[in-house]
Amino acid sequence: MAAKLECSKCGAKLDLPIHCKRPMKIEKVGGTDKLVCWMGADCAVAEIPTHCGHPMRMPA
Ligand SMILES: [Zn+2]
Ligand SMILES: [Zn+2]
Repeated sequence: MAAKLECSKCGAKLDLPIHCKRPMKIEKVGGTDKLVCWMGADCAVAEIPTHCGHPMRMPA
């Protein structure tokens, strides 16, 4: 099952971006949640997409 981001307001789902051939993950970078490559923040860091004015999150 592919990992997805979910909007906490409306339930919209979005595939996690792929980096280095695997889905990125959410990790704290400098105290803020970011999308981070599974290889680590040294490889790639991206902003979490927003939906309904809020950052999307991993479904519980
Ligand atoms: Zn990477
Ligand atoms: Zn939404």
